[in-house]
Amino acid sequence: MTTAEKKVTRLEVVEPKHLDFGKKWDYAPSPESTDFVKIAPRHELFIGGKFTKPKSGSYFKTINPATEETLTEIADANDADVDAAVKAARQAYEKYWSKLPGSERAKYIFRIARQLQEKAREFAIVETLNGGKPIKEARDIDIPLAVAHFFYYAGWADKLDFAFPGRKTRPLGVAGQIIPWNFPLLMAAWKIAPALACGNTVVLKPAETTPLTALLLAQVIQEADLPPGVVNIITGFGKTGAALVKHPDINKVAFTGSTEVGKMIQRSIAGSKKRLTLELGGKAANIIFNDAPIDQAIEGIINGIYFNQGHVCCAGSRLFVQEGVADIVIRKLQDRIQTLRVGNPLDKNTDIGAINSKQQLQKIQELVQTGVDEGCKMHQTACELPKKGFWFAPTFFTGVAQSNRIAQEEIFGPVLSVLTFRTPEEAVEKANNTAYGLSAGVWTDKGSKIFKISSQLKAGVIWGNTYNKFDPASPFGGYKESGFGREGGLQGLMPYVELV
Ligand code: NAP
Ligand code: MG
Repeated sequence: MTTAEKKVTRLEVVEPKHLDFGKKWDYAPSPESTDFVKIAPRHELFIGGKFTKPKSGSYFKTINPATEETLTEIADANDADVDAAVKAARQAYEKYWSKLPGSERAKYIFRIARQLQEKAREFAIVETLNGGKPIKEARDIDIPLAVAHFFYYAGWADKLDFAFPGRKTRPLGVAGQIIPWNFPLLMAAWKIAPALACGNTVVLKPAETTPLTALLLAQVIQEADLPPGVVNIITGFGKTGAALVKHPDINKVAFTGSTEVGKMIQRSIAGSKKRLTLELGGKAANIIFNDAPIDQAIEGIINGIYFNQGHVCCAGSRLFVQEGVADIVIRKLQDRIQTLRVGNPLDKNTDIGAINSKQQLQKIQELVQTGVDEGCKMHQTACELPKKGFWFAPTFFTGVAQSNRIAQEEIFGPVLSVLTFRTPEEAVEKANNTAYGLSAGVWTDKGSKIFKISSQLKAGVIWGNTYNKFDPASPFGGYKESGFGREGGLQGLMPYVELV
């Protein structure tokens, strides 16, 4: 028996079976004030440096998923609007951006970063209002990481000659970029910052449910005095995205979202000269060995799957626990999820906010039902859910088999599937038994084991004794059906340049 296992047995005896965390740890409400955030009743498209009415003439409502209240109206861009945005981006590319030296492009990108930093509080509140995520995450993760991303790529703009020694870089032209609703501002930053640094111009389409921070970013871009048309932001539904992808004057498509839409995009540009990067779904394995630091691992599991309501493509949605510690891990997990605070996303103590949309909630409910129907054992927190809005209590399943749908399909919600293994070989085989390959986590006392297991896992990002850690200098991207191309780091420049 290893020391870790001995410790585990002792803990099992000493600790009470269930702690009543709910009563013990209630905090007084601590809501972030929204007083100084003014959301205009209507939002236009950002084309050629100006906010312009959509040629379509139509608008759609965007809501707060925590209350179902309408926040504002958003322009719905049609094909003619997409065409106007692409034309503006092309003009800006020819006239200004491709002619500017890297050191000048850098100044503009630094300016965007600084302005974002100054408005961080406003951005965090709007992100929470429109997306449903807890304010502490928007404030401490989304916005600072987005800022860091602009700073990081501003630094590369005048150093591209050093990025690829012996080669020169050439920008591609106009990039069409499509992003999802789980990290709206951060995904916009991941797309826009490297594109601009490399000398491309951009047309970006945010997701229909979370357009607000991208439109606030448009204001920042206007204030930073970027030449008109260098960044264009157009709002709409899937068909707006499809029109952007199909536009003949786009040189590059960058997409983050579902594997299904990713495949459609790949098919629709087949045979064209458009370059493509896809960042799609995931079904990450978080692997806990017998010798892992159990309490840290529990925090890693919680962070891995319940962070941002599980609306994370790299979420650790499959937990593989070595049999020697399976009982203690499951018991500690049961206790720990009871302490998660679900509710008002604007409250600074909230851990789990609202599900992003009714549609997403239905998808989670459906998949969870299949887990129950297929005979898996469901564990859920006893928390009370708000009456209005879209909510799902933190959940995990035990008794899960590899073939169960909840172990195979992306749920994209706060739902974890727990499986066990005996040997490292079995862990690797089970972890790799998925169509996806975006990320993974390995928890063990031994550094050498982390390296050995990581080298055998088919995943683009692997965390050792931690989970969901991001840095702009570190590349992110997938294997297999999780997509291709990297965002972040030096590797993140590659999709936006031609090497000559
Ligand atoms: P999605 O449909 O793939 O949306 C991603 C982006 O693509 C959105 O801006 C979307 O616009 C746009 N889009 C939709 N159809 C398009 C098309 N035919 N051509 C071009 N662009 C198109 O994802 P979703 O419906 O929001 O979520 C569905 C599932 O995707 C989730 O349950 C989750 O499993 C997965 N997902 C993955 C990620 C990730 O980071 N990898 C992020 C979000 C969701 P609309 O918003 O208007 O549809
Ligand atoms: Mg969609």
